[in-house]
Amino acid sequence: MKEHEISSVEVVGKLLTCSVCGGQRFWSREAMLSGRALAFFDLEWAGKKATIHVCERCGHIDWFLPRG
Ligand SMILES: [Zn+2]
Repeated sequence: MKEHEISSVEVVGKLLTCSVCGGQRFWSREAMLSGRALAFFDLEWAGKKATIHVCERCGHIDWFLPRG
């Protein structure tokens, strides 16, 4: 299996910065959201896939839902 790739992340043209520790290195994954989670968050419009970026330094998770 491939190791997590740790890298900087750009979102809407800006470098993503961890809101907790200010770190700028993340590993990224795609997460499938279950139907129940989607309903709970009222996110059924958003599709079933989210991208998560996990801060390499403190472990804080930033979630990004698909747009459009
Ligand atoms: Zn952090």
